[in-house]
Amino acid sequence: MNPVYLDNQATTPLAPEVFDAMLPWLKDSFGNPHSPHMMGRKAAAAVEVAREQIAGLLPRGGRVIFTGSATEAINLAMGAARTQPGRNGIAVIDTEHAAVRDTALWYGTQGFETRLLPVDPQGLLLLEELEASLGPQSALVGAMLVNNEIGVIQPIERIAAMAHRVGALVLCDAVQGFGRIALPQQADLIALSGHKIYGPKGIGALWVRDGIDIPPLIHGGGQEQGIRSGTLSPALCAGLGAAAQLCAERQDADLAHITSLADKARSLFADWTVNGSLDQRYAGNLNIRREGLDVARLMSDVRAVAFSAGSACASGSGRPSHVLAALGLEPAAIKSSIRLGFGRYNNVEDVERAAGLINQAAEKQLS
Ligand code: PLP
Repeated sequence: MNPVYLDNQATTPLAPEVFDAMLPWLKDSFGNPHSPHMMGRKAAAAVEVAREQIAGLLPRGGRVIFTGSATEAINLAMGAARTQPGRNGIAVIDTEHAAVRDTALWYGTQGFETRLLPVDPQGLLLLEELEASLGPQSALVGAMLVNNEIGVIQPIERIAAMAHRVGALVLCDAVQGFGRIALPQQADLIALSGHKIYGPKGIGALWVRDGIDIPPLIHGGGQEQGIRSGTLSPALCAGLGAAAQLCAERQDADLAHITSLADKARSLFADWTVNGSLDQRYAGNLNIRREGLDVARLMSDVRAVAFSAGSACASGSGRPSHVLAALGLEPAAIKSSIRLGFGRYNNVEDVERAAGLINQAAEKQLS
């Protein structure tokens, strides 16, 4: 029997429709999208269709740049801070993914003043702390839409209004929200990833509001509007485009399905405490803890369920989760937290089976 897959924040399975959309570009239609002959032009047209499909989910008045991952898109976006004369302030939420947090901290070693903005015990940004950090020196504010570890939704509209008042740019890491919930219209830079929306790994994109200058990170042939050199993969672009289109068509149905799975899970894990805000959250992420539990042991006892302790990255590194720590949780509470992630291809039997196995192993450990 296959394990029950409840780790949809780490990555999602490829949608069958996406696989079909990618296949021709991996087989006979192998032209280089930057070649001027017919095969090249056909591949280039497929890339542009995909760009339009992605743009359909993003605000008007900007352009989409393909990248190799959301991490690359975020690194590219943060370069915009360098184009703000006389400004060297970068402020990001303390609970950002490492792609934003560690990049901001790196800028702190390069002559920028980086501030990590604290959250309340629910995981929501303390807006007064943002206000206090802003000034004429502010170049860029980074705020994620949906937190990858705890699912909390940040108030991007209010954050953007405050940042714009002092002339700072706003980067929104929308990786866990793109295609799932409504996107903020006010951000200046939006990063997204293929493999979180039932698309392929190895591709992401950055949306850039018109008029914003992005210095290239990768130099070479000048592909992707001179900003991101390197031959594009039409298969990956077509896959990301098809995945975005499918999310747009299914957004309401996906969310209703995932909410019903989350409600079921909440009832089956009634003895557990939810980490993070109960109402400002994306339903597909349930981060819960049970006092006294050793999650490393739990995970080795429950091999038939693919789930996560903290974030996939933090658990891999053995570091305690910086997100749960920012909520004020003690190390023992962090060690007793698990993340369950529900997706489009899960069903209620998955949730029941996973809850049965996890609760049984937890009871055994605690008894
Ligand atoms: N931002 C968030 C919120 C994420 O969850 C992830 C992946 O886990 C990333 C950024 C990085 O995405 P990618 O794997 O495409 O680099």
